[in-house]
Amino acid sequence: MSARVLLLLTNKPKRKQDCSLIKSGVLSVIYSVMLFNASALANALGAKSKLELAAAEVAKQPALKGKLTQGALLRGKLPAGSSVWLNGKEINILASGDFVLGFGRDAALAQELAWQLPGKETRNQQSLALVKREYNIQRIEGVASKYVSPPKDVLARIHEDNVQIASARATSSKHSAFLSDFILPAKGTISGVYGSQRVFNGQAKRPHFGLDIAGPVGTDIVAPVDGVVTLAHSDMYYSGGTLIIDHGLGVSSTFIHLSSIDVKRGDAVRQGQKIAEMGATGRVTGPHLDWRINWFKERLDPALVVDVVDIE
Ligand SMILES: [Zn+2]
Repeated sequence: MSARVLLLLTNKPKRKQDCSLIKSGVLSVIYSVMLFNASALANALGAKSKLELAAAEVAKQPALKGKLTQGALLRGKLPAGSSVWLNGKEINILASGDFVLGFGRDAALAQELAWQLPGKETRNQQSLALVKREYNIQRIEGVASKYVSPPKDVLARIHEDNVQIASARATSSKHSAFLSDFILPAKGTISGVYGSQRVFNGQAKRPHFGLDIAGPVGTDIVAPVDGVVTLAHSDMYYSGGTLIIDHGLGVSSTFIHLSSIDVKRGDAVRQGQKIAEMGATGRVTGPHLDWRINWFKERLDPALVVDVVDIE
């Protein structure tokens, strides 16, 4: 279990309470919230001026839960009715004020979060500094050559697979399942981690973006949290049996190399419900589940979301 550090955000420079708790290049952070009731605070201090009230209101910061590093999913909370922007782009927020952010494998280390409270005209801003990750190189031999250099006659099929996957991952529902604690979707041995630079049969390929869990063909796979099935395909070229589940606001799980799928598009699933079985379909060298988490197109690290696996 990764060490955790509590940081209290203020408008002053961030104060790290214990910098020695940096583990494996990843700083595990839970941002805490400072939600002042401006008028109560002003009354308590005997302050009446608009200036002092405004200063207190600026201190209303979003609570962010997650690890401030590349590959991380962060869950945030603002007062209901607030708006939020990441790097100048407005992002979706639930009516409750809950929202989510995701940072890709090679995300810029400097991120700008902005928010506007309901009924206010000023936009507040907070810089987020991500901790840089180090990724290993994974050399894999014995991959069938048709998966390392796909023949021309399968390129249209690969393109069609990619279109379907992109469409499923573009879903932005108002589901709030992403707020729940995720569980691992299968029992087995962790055989591959997020971010590794992949070399297949000596050829450098794209990095690995999933968490691989190896086990026998037929091992149960369960939903890590609630969601709605947005894609169920029995035979994609690279990923074989492929299932995508929407958890809300662009957060999705993708499960690949499945031997069978128990659900269909549109089905609502509950956390812990059996959804598929582990297989060895598509580009694999043995049976395993490759579980991925996305925030729209951003590919995130499932190990950071479940927080049960030491990474690196
Ligand atoms: Zn994998």
